[in-house]
Amino acid sequence: MKDRLEAIAAEGRQALLAAAGESDLQQARVRYLGKKGELTALMKGLGSVPPEERPGVGALLNQLKDELEVLFQSRLVKVREDDIRMRLEREKIDVTLPGRARFTGSKHPITLVTEEICAIFSALGFGVAEGPEVEKDFFNFEALNFPKDHPARDMQDTFFVSEDVLLRTHTSPVQVRTMLQHAPPVRVVAPGTVYRRDSDITHSPMFHQIEGFLVDRHVTFGDLKGILTAFISQYFGRGVGVRFRPSFFPFTEPSAEVDIQCVICKGSGCRVCKGSGWLEILGSGMIDPEVFKSVNYDPAVYSGFAFGMGIERIAMLRYGVNDLRLFFENDVRFLRQF
Ligand SMILES: [Zn+2]
Repeated sequence: MKDRLEAIAAEGRQALLAAAGESDLQQARVRYLGKKGELTALMKGLGSVPPEERPGVGALLNQLKDELEVLFQSRLVKVREDDIRMRLEREKIDVTLPGRARFTGSKHPITLVTEEICAIFSALGFGVAEGPEVEKDFFNFEALNFPKDHPARDMQDTFFVSEDVLLRTHTSPVQVRTMLQHAPPVRVVAPGTVYRRDSDITHSPMFHQIEGFLVDRHVTFGDLKGILTAFISQYFGRGVGVRFRPSFFPFTEPSAEVDIQCVICKGSGCRVCKGSGWLEILGSGMIDPEVFKSVNYDPAVYSGFAFGMGIERIAMLRYGVNDLRLFFENDVRFLRQF
């Protein structure tokens, strides 16, 4: 009996030592020490051992079991360590590799230009106002001195929602809404999206404008020239030539288009300025007394000026973009350059 015990224990020892991984080791343990294992089976056969030998055999059996159990535990620790070491070898981590940068978005060039323009006018004391894009005919046209059937309406190809409701063709309705809500003095810029039925490389049916106006006592055309010249030298740089040309808008009188010296050729003439050396960037003028009447300002007491510019046009000049549609195609290769 003792010999058999020793033999089985030796086998068990071999099996535990030879086990290559944790699952082999667990199998060996079950085979020798488990409930149906070989040593356990021998223990059950203890009854057939002569009574005088029983204590000796029993003691040996327990001793061998303990020994195998201890061996199993130490092998388990070793096998687990080996396993971790092997995995580390296989999946070597290079801590000097740079991390994976998370993709961060950026502001759209139209947003950037809008914010820059607003910041300059903020510094000049202007607030920022916004208004609805779906607008009533009254705010978009009538209150701005475009009576029904006035030919000036043809200059703005309009998307009508119904006879009286339309997509605003300019940001000027914000002027009317602001003046109806606030008594003078007012100084506001109004950026926003506007809509006209136009589409080619310099026109999009959806585009952006920024409007500005100032109303107070004794406002003159000199104030208008001063503010706009200050804005232009801040935005396009000191020393850029500025030119005011007479023009017509129904809601200003007198009206002026404002040109700056071509930022590409510095005035010598190129394709962008069509050889003239000048670029038109905004429209402006003294607010027509008719507009004041529709917002209940007294034109005998108050005067003011207004101006408006296309943000895409400014952005194209600012960044040297030659096709306006690039701003709205959402091509990341284009957008990530800003
Ligand atoms: Zn030029």
